[in-house]
Amino acid sequence: MLYNDFQDLKLSALGFGAMRLPLDTQGKIDQAELDRMVDAAMAAGVNYYDTAYPYHGGLSEVALCASLARYPRESWHLADKFPGHQNVKGVKHFVPEEVFEDQLRKCGVEYFDFYLLHNVNESSLAWYANPDNHYMDYFLAQKAAGRIRHLGFSCHAAPAGLERFLALYGEHMEFCQIQLNYLDWTLQDAEQKVSILRAAGIPVWVMEPVRGGRLAHFDEATEAKLRAARPDESIPAWAFRWLRTVPKPTMILSGMSNLAQMQDNLKTFSEDRPLSGEELALLDEVAASLARLIPCTGCRYCCAGCPKHLDIPTMLAMANDMAVSASFNTVARYTALGEGKHAGDCISCGQCVRACPQKIDVPAELRRLDECMRGQKTWEEICAERAAAAEALKKAAK
Ligand code: SF4
Ligand code: SF4
Repeated sequence: MLYNDFQDLKLSALGFGAMRLPLDTQGKIDQAELDRMVDAAMAAGVNYYDTAYPYHGGLSEVALCASLARYPRESWHLADKFPGHQNVKGVKHFVPEEVFEDQLRKCGVEYFDFYLLHNVNESSLAWYANPDNHYMDYFLAQKAAGRIRHLGFSCHAAPAGLERFLALYGEHMEFCQIQLNYLDWTLQDAEQKVSILRAAGIPVWVMEPVRGGRLAHFDEATEAKLRAARPDESIPAWAFRWLRTVPKPTMILSGMSNLAQMQDNLKTFSEDRPLSGEELALLDEVAASLARLIPCTGCRYCCAGCPKHLDIPTMLAMANDMAVSASFNTVARYTALGEGKHAGDCISCGQCVRACPQKIDVPAELRRLDECMRGQKTWEEICAERAAAAEALKKAAK
């Protein structure tokens, strides 16, 4: 097992994320398979296990810790999270004191090695940034009492949101978990987020290293290219090798769902095999081919003249995000754009099309995003429509 230093600890470079645990035929957590996975992980030296209050409807904490309890408490580090991201718009009201005590009880532990404020994003920032919520005082007191060893946060916000949270509470944060993989490096501005965190001296934890499985399987031709370059490596291994070669985070969490996935990841993390320049270029090709993506570079040339003051590049990035895999967080960020600032508020004046160096048909893309967010079309239908429009343009140009 590869290890990374974190303060006075040696953390396994691979952590076991308990968001997508194995399920039995009734859809319940398959405890026997989970035990086999934990046994394999412990035998290989994995010492970091990550769960959260809402995972598996609240049962992930219980199942994971029941499995870990078969091993001495000091042989594993447990990470859990406070669901402040759900305390939005009065839908939920999770009280830190109540949740934290409940979590310790459910996990059967006296302390958490790592504790995170869960999912700081554009919607949840309103709650996390409100001093009246007094959660930070409470968690700092738990840390002082030894019931939290290390305090951090997970973040799905865009770089500006991350900076805002750091300006408020960065001094108390010891690590930050972000969505990071070779696709999101540019797609979700992960490169910029890593740079912000490094500048703040905060170690990077990775979630979604294979983007919920999106980077684990490709079409035959793409997989053939990858296998030709590294015949003895699995397809998901490329995503982990990229992380270890380029951003080099402290922790990579993988939400494994069966023993086979666990064994494959354990093999990958048994040795360091950084990608060469040629292999990195091959992954760039893969990322581009995945794309069906809008080629927006985020230059913002289109923004100044928009009569509706729409944040065009942000919405196009969300459209790209949805094209790769629909995500709750993207929908939350989209909702948080505010009244009059959504794709459907575009009046198709065409100013942005004239300003765009990439010649993107922004009004058409915003209309598609609006249709998707209203549930009128799926992204599959939208991507097919976009491909047909591009084909028609090509024919017209001939
Ligand atoms: S077409 Fe829509 S997005 Fe583009 S400038 Fe006009 S209102 Fe703004
Ligand atoms: S001008 Fe074009 S490429 Fe630049 S941000 Fe706007 S849509 Fe994207």
